[in-house]
Amino acid sequence: MIKRAFWGVKSPQIKYELLHDTPVGPRSILPSKTVTLLLPGKYEQKDKLALCAGDSVRTGQKIRHYEDDDAYVISSVTGTVISVEPFFGDFGQSYTAITISVVENEKIDDAFAAACSDSVRNAVTDFLACVPGKPPMEFLAGSGTPIHTLVICGMDSDLMIATNQHIIKTRIDAVARGIKILKDAYGIEKAIIALPRDLVSGFGHVGAQLIAVDTCYPSANHRMIMYKALKQVVPAGKNCEDLGVCFISAEAAASIGSAFEKSEIPLTKTITLINKDREKIMISARIGTPASDIFKACDVTVNERDRIIFGGPMTGTAVFSEDHPVGPDTDAIIVQDKNEVTLVSDYPCINCGECIRICPAGIQINMLVRFLEAGEYQTAADEYDLYSCIECGLCSLVCESKIPIFQYIRLAKYELVREKAAEAIDDE
Ligand code: SF4
Ligand code: SF4
Repeated sequence: MIKRAFWGVKSPQIKYELLHDTPVGPRSILPSKTVTLLLPGKYEQKDKLALCAGDSVRTGQKIRHYEDDDAYVISSVTGTVISVEPFFGDFGQSYTAITISVVENEKIDDAFAAACSDSVRNAVTDFLACVPGKPPMEFLAGSGTPIHTLVICGMDSDLMIATNQHIIKTRIDAVARGIKILKDAYGIEKAIIALPRDLVSGFGHVGAQLIAVDTCYPSANHRMIMYKALKQVVPAGKNCEDLGVCFISAEAAASIGSAFEKSEIPLTKTITLINKDREKIMISARIGTPASDIFKACDVTVNERDRIIFGGPMTGTAVFSEDHPVGPDTDAIIVQDKNEVTLVSDYPCINCGECIRICPAGIQINMLVRFLEAGEYQTAADEYDLYSCIECGLCSLVCESKIPIFQYIRLAKYELVREKAAEAIDDE
């Protein structure tokens, strides 16, 4: 059995772009008519839903499927629910899409303000899981390994995205406040801010150690930061949080800092919009805003067969509707002209070895991909190092046969998690 974990670093010399100048504030875009919130999980009993079409919601109101459900979203607007529908995300993941017709007269829900004066920890856990940047509440407040170190990512792990560099440069006070709140609320001993090497100087005391991250892709990948900056290897099949180290975006830390300053839940996401000319536009939009509203406000025309990607060019996900809503973790939206879209093929692997040469985890991808294509995911995990993959996407970029290797890898990992969860339910 091969269990190589993460053992090598090669530099493909693809560079992250750095924000050297002090950026201007993001351009604010308001939802024109509706927002759509994606609540994780599908509802089983429509007649018992806590919220139905026709109900009114206030900005900052917590929305759940049923009264006693743990999963929640926070309404980013004031308005009337016009539909509650099943929604399927990547690989068929289930959500409930709640669409709200926005009214102008905004009313703020006061439940979070009341919770703030009670217990800060409960207020963070119970109300701030879906703020911009999407803090990893499942690790901070979950029952797994206690977190002793918080790593705040001041640069985005994918290419071309400037969102978290922008936050660090424009909202460092809110980031510092968020760090203090999280350390106190969850008993975290140490906080570290990871910044691009060229930008690490120039920050004063922010209540956290600063570490420099190389500017070659994929140095800002969490496992790479663990390996190169924190000198810890994350074993295959484990994540950083299993070692007590929790990664959080700078925007999530800033959102938490702002929430307690104003006793109000932040609901406006900062996004790097990359248009067909590869120009970057920093924007801010309420969570749930349809991408079409952003395109309209920024004069981006999407034609037939153009591609819309939520996320970065290496690891982002193509979406099929211009109305796909902004989520709390939507750091970038890319619009690619149809002539720029790299097509995948059904050509077989030609054993050229390009993927192996570039893979930072040193995986024998030419072998792995054969089992992934055949749907033999457990063998891929047991014998061909599937879990050593750090999900950088470089293999797909260089593949001579244009095999969608990275997508196969993500699908395989998702399917294995799903199978294990199903087995656990059967065993109960
Ligand atoms: S995505 Fe591909 S190149 Fe990157 S670590 Fe995984 S297998 Fe290696
Ligand atoms: S780059 Fe593609 S074609 Fe070449 S060995 Fe890897 S999987 Fe095979």
